[in-house]
Amino acid sequence: MARIALIPGDGIGPEVIREAERVLLVIADLGDLSLEWDRWALGADHFLETGSTITEGEFRRLEEDYDAILLGALGDPRVPGNQHARDILLGLRVRLDLFVNYRPCRVVRPEHSPLKAAEGSRMDLHIFRENTEGIYGGVGGSLKTGTPDEVAIQEDINTRKGVERILRAAFEFAEREGRRRITVVDKANAMPFAGGLWRRTLEAVRSDHPGLEVELMYVDAMVMDMVRRPDHHEVVVTSNLFGDILSDLAAALVGGLGLAPSANLHPGRHALFEPVHGSAPDLAGSDQANPMAAILCVALLLTHLGEWGPARAVRAAVEAAMEEGVVTPDLGGTGGTGEVGEWIAERVANLLEEAHG
Ligand code: ATP
Repeated sequence: MARIALIPGDGIGPEVIREAERVLLVIADLGDLSLEWDRWALGADHFLETGSTITEGEFRRLEEDYDAILLGALGDPRVPGNQHARDILLGLRVRLDLFVNYRPCRVVRPEHSPLKAAEGSRMDLHIFRENTEGIYGGVGGSLKTGTPDEVAIQEDINTRKGVERILRAAFEFAEREGRRRITVVDKANAMPFAGGLWRRTLEAVRSDHPGLEVELMYVDAMVMDMVRRPDHHEVVVTSNLFGDILSDLAAALVGGLGLAPSANLHPGRHALFEPVHGSAPDLAGSDQANPMAAILCVALLLTHLGEWGPARAVRAAVEAAMEEGVVTPDLGGTGGTGEVGEWIAERVANLLEEAHG
């Protein structure tokens, strides 16, 4: 029995998680997998009603009682600074030590990509972003704030342990998936201390994976390369900051945020899945949010649980919806969130029934 915590969250979060839940229901109903899930009311409403973002006890239950967490989005204009989102998301990331941020991006329909169809149609990128340190580590400070002499320092934290474990996660994935090439992205020419540590660590890791071709790219060259020859790179591993930027570009190249799922992982221990998009308050309640990123998170979650058959069915159903034009306005369609979600869930049911024979 796999136990999942669903945190729908804010804005379009509950709308897209409802559709992900519909797909989970189909899979559980067809008996393909023994699944159980609880809904957690964490988010802006809960914070505004109770004054609590997330408690120690809630952290502990999320840590101990579940095989995976599926989160919609956190962020609400009624909460200045989005204190609750930081407490919950960063809290879970640190607490569960979710050091891998895995973001797959693949072009399904060339017309959804802003790139020229021929090349764009083959893009199939797997980005591994370091998720716990780097320049987002929150180390630094400022002085003389608000004066003409103001100083701000934001440190870039790179530890041998942190770099080694994200490199290993990416190399192991590439090998497991039968990929030929892995691209390591840094800015070692301008940031030699961090770059030096990354490259020395890389030498140790690559010697354990002699079958993989390693390409080293500076991040500025990488953004150009992703646009010029999007089909060239396969598995990309990089720091927190560069991974954040490259994965947003990759999402845009395959058709936008509505299609981009992500996994936050501590391999072998904890997993949290969330769409790359945020709470999109402008779309909340309009039945226009694309539920595909959230549904593709279900596919990642199933893969994490070792359920490759149902995971493949979910991905195939999303691709079929795109191919048949059952899409929301962000992809040029007229479908509503619920309508697209329902279509995909039905297709998942059909695919699984066919597989049962
Ligand atoms: P947050 O601060 O929570 O990240 P945001 O509005 O700043 O929220 P996103 O939620 O990522 O950032 O959304 C940016 C824009 O992208 C939205 O305003 C919306 O128009 C579009 N968008 C995001 N997610 C989706 C989606 N699932 N379907 C359609 N459009 C989306």
